[in-house]
Amino acid sequence: MIVGIDLGTTNSLVAVWREGQAQLIHNGLGEVLTPSCVSLDEDGSVLVGRAARERLQTHPERSAALFKRYMGSNKTVRLGKREFRPEELSALILKALKADAEAFLGEPVTEAIITVPAYFSDAQRKATRAAGQIAGLRVERLLNEPTAAALACGIHLRGAETRFLVFDLGGGTFDVSILDLFEGVMEVRASAGDNFLGGEDFVHALRDLFFQRLALPESLRRDEAFMQRLSGQAEAAKRALSTQPRATLRVRRGDDEHVLEIDEAALEQACAPLLKRLRAPVERALRDANLRSSELDNVVLAGGATRMPLIRRLVTTMFGRFPAIDFNPDEVVALGAAVQAGLKARDKALDEVVMTDVSPYSLGVEVSVRLDDRSSSQGHFDPVIERNTPVPVSRSKSYMPTTEGQSMIDLEIYQGESRMVRDNIHLGRLRVALPHAPLQDCAVDVRFTYDVNGLLQVEAMVRKTQETTSLVIEGNPGLLSPAEVAQRLKSLAELKIHPRDKLENRTLLARGERLYEQLRGEQREWLGMQILRFEQLLSTQDARMIAAGRREFESVLERVERDSYLGDAPQ
Ligand code: AMP
Repeated sequence: MIVGIDLGTTNSLVAVWREGQAQLIHNGLGEVLTPSCVSLDEDGSVLVGRAARERLQTHPERSAALFKRYMGSNKTVRLGKREFRPEELSALILKALKADAEAFLGEPVTEAIITVPAYFSDAQRKATRAAGQIAGLRVERLLNEPTAAALACGIHLRGAETRFLVFDLGGGTFDVSILDLFEGVMEVRASAGDNFLGGEDFVHALRDLFFQRLALPESLRRDEAFMQRLSGQAEAAKRALSTQPRATLRVRRGDDEHVLEIDEAALEQACAPLLKRLRAPVERALRDANLRSSELDNVVLAGGATRMPLIRRLVTTMFGRFPAIDFNPDEVVALGAAVQAGLKARDKALDEVVMTDVSPYSLGVEVSVRLDDRSSSQGHFDPVIERNTPVPVSRSKSYMPTTEGQSMIDLEIYQGESRMVRDNIHLGRLRVALPHAPLQDCAVDVRFTYDVNGLLQVEAMVRKTQETTSLVIEGNPGLLSPAEVAQRLKSLAELKIHPRDKLENRTLLARGERLYEQLRGEQREWLGMQILRFEQLLSTQDARMIAAGRREFESVLERVERDSYLGDAPQ
């Protein structure tokens, strides 16, 4: 069975194409959003999802979130005594989603379509694919997130001829895509985005506002537990301001309680630089598609952060129309991934749908530009495949060595839009041996082949000798080799995963512990007793009693949360 997975920065979802439609799958807690958080329990077992999210505050040194931001790099995260790579942490999320899908479908899930931000580089895509492999999934396809969102909308609008823009602001990334829909063909005309702009940045802006308004010393930022609590409060305030005019952030430290009340205008002001950054990718996508905003039929919102009214207002003024909000912005990417899974499985209901995508960025090599006979300027970027070219695509260009008698040419491969390579992303190096021949016989034809997954292959052929050197980009310290992937798969398989059927109880305990840390005095002591009582109940293993006790314990926690204005854990 093949499923569609939205592996998000803050939340992940799994969906399937069944009975002619995309369906979301619930996790063990009955929820469709699984927080992209991992935590190591004291007994060494791995917790994924909401329980892990609760533990970010109580056990920051054993818990991790937001690791999608480090995919494709060699940054590791320490949980307890063990170092994890971002691929491994993502693999643990994928494993949990796989188990949820298997429980729902009653059959093994072996393949997946996984979505990635359109702006993910070659290394980040390869890391995502490796995460799938480590989780025991064959990654059928990596699908660009805005394309997935568009696919979900496109299936909905099937039959109509329409042109729309998808505005996708997730937890960590911002993506824009423009799509044309006609006669069953869904054509992505252009994609653009910002890999480091998302809902999380609005939380950071609120944290900065908290420090600034309350004149707190900068040294306080080093207090990890304080910052985690502040993040939780900033996240809750940001969400509250989506539905109410004011919100309060309260963070306790020792005997002090720091309190800040804000309104939406304050949020908007604190986030002004972020709002400004949302314009550039929209403008770029329109320019690449050769369209004016008035030529769009619709604007579709995706990503949880588009729930913020200030984002909706910005979209409305940017496009001079209200965005279409028929879709749940948290779910639309996963639903699109399920549609793609249906396309792969050649489902009859999708018989007439064809989808084409584009390369969201330019790919090319480093060249030196000759100024005159004696001098040249180094470090220029020469694109071989320009951004927003339909994929799959294969293009070739010829290059000459710079000096006579050179025995080797090092082709440095880059991705990006800047004129100079130093401002673009280095993907790898291809070494090509040159023949002993005059300069004009040393021309090298360089071919770039970019597939539907956004993965690149580079081939160089010395024209005179017809000798070919090919490169599946290597030498990137951020990537695992196939042997390393196999080894990580083995070592991860040895980790104990917390049993799925006990997750609900474990999540409640983690929530209780988080609340306990924030209370004081008698209230704290009282909650400690409640936690202990629930723990004792769990040790009886009496399913009926546990179910009853769980409901009671949950309502206790809800009451504490309501009474003490603690808000939710950070997302
Ligand atoms: P995603 O990666 O698409 O799940 O987006 C999650 C982001 O959406 C996070 O940064 C959340 O804080 C944000 N988000 C979700 N719901 C809301 C809401 N009601 N108001 C403001 N932001 C939200």
